[in-house]
Amino acid sequence: MPETDVNVIRLIIFFGLLGGLILLEWRWPKRLVDAQRRKRWLANLGIGLINLLVLRLILPGAAVAIAIAVNAGDWGLFNLLELPSWLTVVLSLLLLDLAIWAQHLASHHIPLLWRLHRMHHSDLHIDATTALRFHPLEILLSMAWKALIIALLGAPVIAVILFEILLNGSAMFNHANLRLPAAIDRWLRKLIVTPDMHRVHHSVDQDEHNRNFGFNLPWWDWLFGTYRAQPKLGHAEMTIGLDRFRAERDQELFNLLKQPLKTAD
Ligand SMILES: [Zn+2]
Repeated sequence: MPETDVNVIRLIIFFGLLGGLILLEWRWPKRLVDAQRRKRWLANLGIGLINLLVLRLILPGAAVAIAIAVNAGDWGLFNLLELPSWLTVVLSLLLLDLAIWAQHLASHHIPLLWRLHRMHHSDLHIDATTALRFHPLEILLSMAWKALIIALLGAPVIAVILFEILLNGSAMFNHANLRLPAAIDRWLRKLIVTPDMHRVHHSVDQDEHNRNFGFNLPWWDWLFGTYRAQPKLGHAEMTIGLDRFRAERDQELFNLLKQPLKTAD
């Protein structure tokens, strides 16, 4: 499939999901909607647009391009092993998800990486647009990390395309301010990270904020002991964000972009 078609399909899925989630959030919100929502959305969508441009201009289709090059050269682990192709797709999806989990864990524990990642956490509310609010430098770093893993694995092109779509979609879903029936949440979080599971990670409480690093699969947090089922204060009462960046000016687009330059905390 030509790369432009893949990009068009990705954009259609992206906007379809974002629009669908915003409708669901409006109909079934989990937490009270914030009074500053218009400003927040402008900032978050602004960051999302910058990231889209950065990825288009600097690294157009980077992950997919790396996968094409790696497979053309027969490089990477899966090109050495004679595994059925369906199995290499499944293993690639699993290992890429584990790599993103590990990167997220590192972003919370390595001070330099935290400076880039904390802008995402400084959102004072959490909804589908929070999934777009990653610092452009963190997006570039994340792309370089993914490229390394794709090259080492020799991940099939289709697995990389699927992973990119899944990662985008699941990030929007698990940031949504969406009230799912408890029974559905309990069942769903056996397979994917749900909004209630990820919201714990956006708590101001350090103990909760260093939990639930998963984006797609919840299994890594269970396996490595970083899983926390619910916030102590409950979803309606818990405070979202960081203590350090709660002023109105901290939430303006330009100050969000400058945030990594501020001293570490
Ligand atoms: Zn985080």
